Amino acid sequence: MIIGAGQAGAWTARTLRNSGYTAPVLLLGQEWHAPYERPPLSKGVLGGTQSAPPVLLTSEQAESQCISIRLGTEVVSIDRAARHVACADGRQISYDKLVIATGGKPRRLPLPNANPPGVFELRTIDDAGAIGRRLAAGSRLLVIGGGWIGLEVAATARQKGVAVTLVEAGERLCARSVPPVLGDFLLARHIGQGVLIRMKTTVQSIEPGDAGRVLVNIDGENGQFDAVVVGIGIVPNTRLASDCGLKVTDGIVVDASGRTSDPDVYAVGDVANQHCSWADGRVRFESWAHERPESSDLRRYGDCRHRNSVRRPSLVWSDQYDFSLQVLGVPAIEGRQIVRGSLDDYNFSVFQLVDRRLRAVMSVNSPRDIKMARRWMRDGVCPPVEALADTTQRFDRLDGGVIRRS
Ligand code: NAP
Repeated sequence: MIIGAGQAGAWTARTLRNSGYTAPVLLLGQEWHAPYERPPLSKGVLGGTQSAPPVLLTSEQAESQCISIRLGTEVVSIDRAARHVACADGRQISYDKLVIATGGKPRRLPLPNANPPGVFELRTIDDAGAIGRRLAAGSRLLVIGGGWIGLEVAATARQKGVAVTLVEAGERLCARSVPPVLGDFLLARHIGQGVLIRMKTTVQSIEPGDAGRVLVNIDGENGQFDAVVVGIGIVPNTRLASDCGLKVTDGIVVDASGRTSDPDVYAVGDVANQHCSWADGRVRFESWAHERPESSDLRRYGDCRHRNSVRRPSLVWSDQYDFSLQVLGVPAIEGRQIVRGSLDDYNFSVFQLVDRRLRAVMSVNSPRDIKMARRWMRDGVCPPVEALADTTQRFDRLDGGVIRRS
């Protein structure tokens, strides 16, 4: 049984089947939609260039792979001793092995009654549709939070001719995900595209405004907006796990096989906290790429003898305006940085080294750098620093951290 029919849950079901797992698989999802990709929600779906995101597991695919899906099903508790889950409609369903893939829920603003009509979070197809209907050219949008959701929504809205104001509580954009050089780059690009950005700013109140608009008080000043999108992070959905006594510390704690403190219960995706070899510690990834378990990750379900920790560096990417940003690994707050390429031409990579090891790579419009860096990080090697900075050195001529001379 897999609880959660998002990216991680659907991929787990598919990968189990592709890996030769023959026992019955039941996927339980709270939404009424078949599992779908979330990345297009803030881009093509919101912008109206894509009618719906790609489906991850259609009912035909599920049927052909003998995967049962129950949509609109909310699991409210897990009884590990009896090996069954209870659903909100009163049903009990039993399992032999359980995978928790419950992801996260949008963090709420710490304001009373801050959800009048016109205020949205963006997590589901329905959210994207509802926001999109309010974003006609010339309308006014307020985005709260300068992270991935906030920046992608702002970029999509600007491209539709919407007037966008963005408020961010911190000193930098995407401060939790990227170092200052990237935060500054993002700030300059959004200002250049006409987004009014207010840093170190919070919203004091939100209430119904005139003619269906939203009245927002920002730092003591009132403004009316046609829509407000709140993107201030997610909170992992760990309640089911903690209520049934599983170990939870910033996510559900799992071992190298994805196994929780109960050998018959696993956790995957945004909700799982696991050891990671290249980050030197435990990490809970919020990353689309990390939610696609490979066959090798799942083939040994129940057998962790041959694996030590996550070796695949996580990847986050974001398409905004005319650039595509990729972040490989988990950037540290401090560390040596080497810039390759030109920030002014929107074509560069930033390599971050900690203790002479490649810890993260952030790339704008340079996917080849990411491709090479992924191999180096996986293999624990790093090319000479001079080679990283030197754009005349071709990375495909570097081998195993040493420059191969032709
Ligand atoms: P996020 O990337 O964590 O960014 C949230 C931002 O909001 C942070 O900069 C945060 O600042 C700020 N913030 C927090 N409280 C605030 C407040 N009261 N007022 C103003 N700003 C506030 O989270 P997100 O953008 O909401 O994204 C949600 C999830 O979707 C994440 O898991 C994200 O990775 C995922 N996502 C990913 C992509 C992508 O990979 N391209 C795209 C969309 C969404 P502090 O850091 O100072 O708290």
